[in-house]
Amino acid sequence: MRIATITNWAYGATVCLTIASGVVMILASNADSVERQAVKQRQQFDQITEEVETDAWMLSDLARLYVIKKEPAILDEFQQKESVLKRTEHRMVQLKDAGATSGELMLLGEGLKIIDELQDEQQAALSSMARGEGQQAVDLLFGSAYELEIERAQRQIDHFRQMLDSRIIAEVQAATKTSKTLRTASEIMVGLTALLFLFVLGFILKRRVLRPVVRLSDVVHRLASQDYAVETPNFNQIDEIGDMAQAIHIFRENGLARQRLERERDADWAIRELLARMTQRLQGCENFADVINVAELFAPNVAPGVAGRLYILERDPWQMRCVAEWLDPDGDNHPFDSDACWAIRRGQSHPPVSGEPDIACYHLPPSSADCSLCVPLIAQGEAIGLLSFQNITPDNAPARAYLELMAEALGLALANQRLRDALLEKALFDPLTGLRNRHHLDDTLRTQLAQAMRSSESLSCLMIDIDHFKTINDRYGHEAGDEVIKSVAGIVKRAVRDGGMAFRYGGEEFLALLADANEDAAFACASEIHREVHTLSIRYGLTEIGPVDVSIGIASYPQHAQSDNLLRAADVALYRAKELGRSRIVSFGMLKAE
Ligand code: GH3
Ligand code: MG
Ligand code: MG
Repeated sequence: MRIATITNWAYGATVCLTIASGVVMILASNADSVERQAVKQRQQFDQITEEVETDAWMLSDLARLYVIKKEPAILDEFQQKESVLKRTEHRMVQLKDAGATSGELMLLGEGLKIIDELQDEQQAALSSMARGEGQQAVDLLFGSAYELEIERAQRQIDHFRQMLDSRIIAEVQAATKTSKTLRTASEIMVGLTALLFLFVLGFILKRRVLRPVVRLSDVVHRLASQDYAVETPNFNQIDEIGDMAQAIHIFRENGLARQRLERERDADWAIRELLARMTQRLQGCENFADVINVAELFAPNVAPGVAGRLYILERDPWQMRCVAEWLDPDGDNHPFDSDACWAIRRGQSHPPVSGEPDIACYHLPPSSADCSLCVPLIAQGEAIGLLSFQNITPDNAPARAYLELMAEALGLALANQRLRDALLEKALFDPLTGLRNRHHLDDTLRTQLAQAMRSSESLSCLMIDIDHFKTINDRYGHEAGDEVIKSVAGIVKRAVRDGGMAFRYGGEEFLALLADANEDAAFACASEIHREVHTLSIRYGLTEIGPVDVSIGIASYPQHAQSDNLLRAADVALYRAKELGRSRIVSFGMLKAE
C-alpha cells in the first residue's frame, strides 16, 4: 500500500475518532447537567418544604400561644406568619412540578392539604376566641385530633422528601455512571487516536521511510562512486520508496550496461591498436619468415584463447602448407589440398555464421569442426593462404571482423613478399638461364672475398666464354643459340656445386666463384665444365647443334690476385685462352710462368 494511502487512512481514522470522542464528551457533559438538575430540584424542594413546614409549625405554635395567653401581639404575629405561609405556598405553586413525579407531587399535595386543614382549624379556634369561647379554642388546638393532623402532615412531607431523595439519588447515580462511562469511552478514543498517530508515525517514519531511505542512501552513495557491485534493495512495496528503489535499480542496470559498453569499447580499441601495430610490423617485414613471426606473435593477442594455424598456398606442389601455429591447435599440421578448405573454395570466411549447422572443412579434425573458423588470405582476388582458428567458444569468440582484418593484412603482407621476391629474382637472376646475373655478382664477390680474407681461405674465379658463338647464332638461329646458352649454364651450375656460385656474366659469358678452392681445385672444376660442354649434344628441332666448346680463364685469391683484381685476372686468363686458339683452360698462374 502506498504511504500516501496509509497516511490518508490514518488521517481519516484520527478525524473520526476525534469527532466521536467530542460527541461522547458532549454526552458526558449532558449526563453531568442531568445530575446537576436533579440536585438542584432536590435543593428547591428541600428548601421550600422546609419553609412551609417551619411556617406551618410556627403558625400552629402562635395560634396555640394566643389561645392560651390571649395577647393581641401574638395574634398580629400569627396573621403576619399566615401571610408568609401563603406566599410560600404561592411560590410552591409557581414552582409547579419542577421535575417531581406525580406520586411525589401527590404526597406533597396531601401534606399541604393537611396544613390547609390545620389552618382552617386554627381559624376556627381564633373565631372561637373572638366569640369568647377560649376553652373551645384550647380544646380545638390542643386536642388529639389536631395533634394527629400535625403528625399526619409531618409524615406526608417527610414521605415526600424521602421519595424525592431516593429518586434524586438514583438519578444522580445513573447520571454519574453514564457520565463516567462516556468519559471512559472518550478517553479510550483519545488513547486510540494517539496510538494510531504514534503507530502511523513510527511505521511510516521508521519501517517504511527511515530504514529504506538509509539503505537507499547507502546504495546511491556507492553507485555515485561507480561501485556497481552493490546490490540494490528489493523493496517491492507499491509506494514512493518502492519507486525510488526501482529507479535506483534501473540506474544501476544502466551503470552496469555503460561499464560493459566501456569495457567492450576499450577492448575494441585495444584490438584495433593491436591490429594497427601488426600492420605496421608487417609493412616492415623483409621476408616470409618475418611475416610468419609477426602472425605467430600477434594472432593469440588479437583472439585471446583461440588456437590457430597459418597456412600458405604453395604452387609446387599445389597445397596448403602450415607455416605457423599457436596455442596448441588440435589435429596435425600436415599440408593439405586447398580444396579441403571451404573458406578457400568460397573465397570467404567459413562457416559464414557461427553456431549454425554448416559443412565443416575437411582439413579440420572432427572434434574441433564445430568451434572453428577458417579465414582465407586473399590477395588480388586470389587465395594465397589461410588462417584456421579453433576452440572458439562464446566466451572467447573474437569479433569476426577483426580476424578478417588480420587475414587481410597478412594476405597483403604475403602478397607483397611474393612480389618483392619476384622483383628481386628479376633484378638478380637471369631469366634465360636462372643463374645469378652481374648485379648479384658485385654483392656476392664482396661477401665471398671478405669471408675468404677473414678465414684465410682461397677463392677462385672461372671466366667461361662460348667459342665462336656468333657462328652458332648465325648458323642455327638465335633461339638455338639461347638453347646452347641454357645448356652451358646448366653445366656450369652443376659443376660449381654447393661450394660455388654460377653467374651469367654477359651474352655468352659465364662466371663461377669457387669458395675455398685454390688454382688446382679451380682447374679441376674448369676441366669438368670444358669436358661436359664439349661432349654436349644439343638438338634444336631436327638439327644437331655442335660441337660446342668453351674457353675458360682461371684466377685464384690470394695466389694470383688480390681482392680488387680477381675478376680482371680471370678475364686476362680467358683472353689468353682465346688467343691460344680457344677451347682450352688458362690460369693466371700459367700466364705468369710464360
Ligand atoms: P669468340 O670465340 O671470340 O668468343 O667469338 P664469339 O662469336 O663467341 O664472340 P662474339 O663477341 O663475337 O659474339 C658473341 C655473340 O653472342 C654476339 C651476340 O649476338 C650473341 N649473343 C649475346 N647474347 C646472346 C643471347 O642471349 N642469345 C643469343 N642467341 N645470342 C647472344
Ligand atoms: Mg664473348
Ligand atoms: Mg664467345
